[in-house]
Amino acid sequence: MSDTMFLIAGGGLGGLSAALALLKRGFKVRVLEQAPQIKEVGAGIQLGPNGTRVLFHLGLRDALFACCYEVRRKEIRVWDSGDRYQFVSTGASAVNKYGAPYVTVHRADLLNLLLDAIRRIDPDAVQVGAKVERIRQADAEVHVTLADGSTLKGSAFVGADGLHSITRRQLFGDTPAEFTGGVAWRGLVPAGKVSSEFSRTVGTTWIGLDGHVVTYPVRRGELINVVGHIERDDWRIESWTEPGEKSEFLQDFAGWHPDVIELISNIDQPFKWALFLRKPLLVWTAGRCTLLGDACHPTLPYLAQGANMAIEDGLVLARCIEAYEDVETALKRYEQVRAERGAAIVHGSAANLARFHNPRLANPETARDYVMEEWNPQTIADRYDWIYSYDAVNTAV
Ligand SMILES: Cc1cc2nc3c(=O)[nH]c(=O)nc-3n(C[C@H](O)[C@H](O)[C@H](O)COP(=O)(O)OP(=O)(O)OC[C@H]3O[C@@H](n4cnc5c(N)ncnc54)[C@H](O)[C@@H]3O)c2cc1C
Repeated sequence: MSDTMFLIAGGGLGGLSAALALLKRGFKVRVLEQAPQIKEVGAGIQLGPNGTRVLFHLGLRDALFACCYEVRRKEIRVWDSGDRYQFVSTGASAVNKYGAPYVTVHRADLLNLLLDAIRRIDPDAVQVGAKVERIRQADAEVHVTLADGSTLKGSAFVGADGLHSITRRQLFGDTPAEFTGGVAWRGLVPAGKVSSEFSRTVGTTWIGLDGHVVTYPVRRGELINVVGHIERDDWRIESWTEPGEKSEFLQDFAGWHPDVIELISNIDQPFKWALFLRKPLLVWTAGRCTLLGDACHPTLPYLAQGANMAIEDGLVLARCIEAYEDVETALKRYEQVRAERGAAIVHGSAANLARFHNPRLANPETARDYVMEEWNPQTIADRYDWIYSYDAVNTAV
């Protein structure tokens, strides 16, 4: 199958991971990215041991450590009192437990290191300004038409075009999206601008009555990523690049602990994103076409696993293609290996919303009991071990 040309729509974290994994196995790849350049507006990403394991396998260990941050621990804090509780294992204990680290990284840094590794193997593998509009299968070929009218031919096609995937719609029809009643604010704070030392070394999930805030350092600790989730139903735009006003972000979190207010106050430009729930697909392969990442199992961010899933998908896809002579068999097998896990993440993320926003956090006594029930070592292990211990490098394909 080494002559097979794989056309991948989308140069996000999933599309680039798949491209690198395929190139490293000797396959030909063309990534078609609609944007005029591969770039990311400011935002952080948490990579669990399940994600870093894949990136290490792809040869990116040193490059990742040069730009990421390994938080010493992750904490739960209560929205108004600021009371702290230990959360998931990070640092050395994550490596001991799962065999790979838990790190946080700026998305632009992660995209760049994937892109550099791809271009070292094939400088022409990624084509920007290439918006995929139509896919057609004809015998042993897939014909892809771009927005500029040009057509490319490949022997297989991967739709890694994200949440609003055109390729999912063409292959499998519309997936209804249900508004969750929530908005995610996000922004970056230069670490030197805030006084609280703990913010630079610890990842924190602040939990509240009708909102939660996730903070962690990125870019070697130079920046702090802040994501604030709040229940409100007056904003319906689902986009990374939609700017918002800092005053409105502050208003949404009025009454929260001064550490939260300090972080929000020091964001240069916040962005806001309406959160929608979609059912994951269980079948996403048709002949020589398949999907990966948010295109097939778009998830809410409450397990911080969407990008990790896209990265795992990319490697498992390449491993299946290597393992099976026939491309259609390989793509179908990839889908079978990944469908259940992708769906479990989507459902688990949705379930976390009621956990992070809870009326028992209204006063300190009930808050303490609530946190001890929901974030004791056993419940944490039950919720996260299956996620972090997954090994996309060795799972049976
Ligand atoms: C607030 C928030 C916080 C999050 N935090 C985390 C986290 O900490 N950890 C984590 O694992 N996940 C997190 N996620 C989820 C994560 O961002 C996504 O799951 C992940 O980016 C999906 O990767 P992808 O490659 O499938 O899609 P994307 O990253 O969306 O990439 C899709 C690419 O396809 C391109 N494209 C789209 N249409 C076309 C077309 N027609 N032709 C060509 N190109 C096209 C786009 O321009 C884009 O580059 C978070 C999400 C949100 C909203």
